[in-house]
Amino acid sequence: MNRKFEHRAEMTVRRKVGRAVHHYGLLREGDRVLVAVSGGKDSLVLLDILRKIPDWAPIRYELVPFTLDQGFPGFDAAEVRRQVARLGLELVVERAPVSEILACKAPRVSTPCSLCSRLRRGAIYQAAQRLDCHRIALGHHADDLIETLLLNLFFTGELKSMPPLLKAEDGRNVVIRPLCFLFEQEVAAYFEQLGLRAVNAGCPDRQILLRRRRWIKDLLQEWEKINPRVRHSLLAALQHVRADFLLDPRLLSGTACRPGPR
Ligand code: SF4
Repeated sequence: MNRKFEHRAEMTVRRKVGRAVHHYGLLREGDRVLVAVSGGKDSLVLLDILRKIPDWAPIRYELVPFTLDQGFPGFDAAEVRRQVARLGLELVVERAPVSEILACKAPRVSTPCSLCSRLRRGAIYQAAQRLDCHRIALGHHADDLIETLLLNLFFTGELKSMPPLLKAEDGRNVVIRPLCFLFEQEVAAYFEQLGLRAVNAGCPDRQILLRRRRWIKDLLQEWEKINPRVRHSLLAALQHVRADFLLDPRLLSGTACRPGPR
């Protein structure tokens, strides 16, 4: 990668992460932030950029890089530790029996991903408490948000995605997504210049998740032939919700529109 391209990739990441942090108040002075590091590109980029923000912005906080070893046979936690060490940080690794629970439930669940996500989320929330972290940073990027929006529209009948800042149901943890304005390609370009190695989660069911996501990705590529900026438009739509022009009675402001007694 030439220097000019590297510089542009870094500037894009800085600008968009800076905008997200500022716009949604994702980080506060003195925060102790647990950074969920799966070992994939997105989480390593997240960790790297969070470590660099104090170099150019007047804010100080502490990072706790954290990996949840879910017990999948092909996962190499030691390799994640090595990659994190190359960023000058020390990784905390904890083991949770996610793969074992999934194996027990396998005959009763058709897709393990929602149960797996719930178990992982619970384990990460608990770890954040133990490690005295106030915020949990996740590496979801703009394409994840858009794909989640479309998956929910097509399969669950809900108009929702993943928010940049979320107070968790337990009322104690605050989840943040500083990469929310960055597209996958921008994350990948930046990752390339870091010279790190992405580590596979080792999940045997990964193909199930990828198949569904693949369908949405193919759809987006088709739409891009009609409108090359369709991803930008979908991301902008998530930031400009016109609640009065939807059908949810809880969000309609005109009293005439409120459903009366039956
Ligand atoms: S792909 Fe595997 S690790 Fe990812 S959510 Fe599904 S079951 Fe869990």
